[in-house]
Amino acid sequence: LRKLPETNLYLALIHYPVVNKNGQIITSAVTNLDLHDIARAAKTYGVKKYYIITPIDDQKELVKKITAHWTHGVGAEFNPLRREALELITVRSSLEEVLDEMGQRELKKTRLVVTSAKKNQNSLSYSDFRDMLNIKNNNQYILLFGTAWGLAKEVIEKADYVLEPISGNTPYNHLSVRSAAAIIMDRLLGNHGLSS
Ligand code: SAM
Repeated sequence: LRKLPETNLYLALIHYPVVNKNGQIITSAVTNLDLHDIARAAKTYGVKKYYIITPIDDQKELVKKITAHWTHGVGAEFNPLRREALELITVRSSLEEVLDEMGQRELKKTRLVVTSAKKNQNSLSYSDFRDMLNIKNNNQYILLFGTAWGLAKEVIEKADYVLEPISGNTPYNHLSVRSAAAIIMDRLLGNHGLSS
């Protein structure tokens, strides 16, 4: 089987700590669509793993149940292509747990890149991030997406980089995390065939 080029990019969808519309720290609920849509996009762009982060046990069980249906259960027979995508999903309790795991598994330096719809000073451009991903070195990158009204400040402050927000050509900026993840992956890893 042709070995597909793997990227050094991981993805994480964070359900805690995120903020609600009043800026309070909450734990958001996992939604089925976030699992499927983002896993399918991650598979399309060669993302190595898609971490679902939630500290709530029954939410972790829910993720495991959904992914098991599509990777080992009836869903796997029914739709093997969906199995391939959902196989990227790994559920963990916290970002710290994910970073520990990534650090141990591969003797690489993990760089944290957070995303947000809000403008941030000295944010990382897509072209610079694209170049970084293409450098053959010991770095691996994990791209963090939030839920609810976005990642909590403590997560943004932990990051090595804040990716510049996607903006359309209007002041309207309320993308779902599913749309934002797909757009960002395409900007970073898409084969645009255009002269870069
Ligand atoms: N106002 C929130 C914010 O600034 O992130 C929107 C949260 S949105 C429902 C959930 C997630 O989608 C965000 O945490 C971020 O990861 C991603 N996202 C949404 N809009 C984005 C944009 N314009 N640029 C980059 N990421 C975006």
